[in-house]
Amino acid sequence: MNELKSYSKDVNINGNLVNAYFICKRKFWLYARQLNPSPNIDLLLLGRLISENTYSREKKEIFLDIIKIDLVKKLDQNIIVCEVKKSSKGLEAAKMQVAFYLLKLKERGINAKGEILIPKEKKIVPFELTDDIETLLVNSIKDMQNLTAQEIPPPVVKTSFCKNCAFVEFCYA
Ligand code: SF4
Repeated sequence: MNELKSYSKDVNINGNLVNAYFICKRKFWLYARQLNPSPNIDLLLLGRLISENTYSREKKEIFLDIIKIDLVKKLDQNIIVCEVKKSSKGLEAAKMQVAFYLLKLKERGINAKGEILIPKEKKIVPFELTDDIETLLVNSIKDMQNLTAQEIPPPVVKTSFCKNCAFVEFCYA
């Protein structure tokens, strides 16, 4: 585990942090405070590898300030922002990650739709940013900023996500 690095209360929220927040607030805090587990057990990396192998022909990574989008497609007149996941287990968190990208694009005057691609399950889950989801996301981002400022992480809450979490050894030591 890396040493605790200095941080600012106004940490830059990115898509992976949004995903972590909706999986587990403790996981979010650990990533936000730049505590990274050993990369050889980081399942985010596995997701990236699946992305690289499966969509290599049409892959277009887009960097926009702090956001990094796996793939962008154009279908008719619609821009579709895609996020690749290794399974549908964290689907709700993946949706909020895509919602974050859609919100950031909307702030730049770009209205886009989303898709979560799960190649191992041959699934494509369409997603749109509704007013309710946008409100939830904006309130959650405020909560993320407050959480990051806390000196100690939120407590361990045992869920089905713990088993494959990169922080499992840290939480259950
Ligand atoms: S092991 Fe469980 S409690 Fe700990 S960060 Fe991961 S998901 Fe959260």
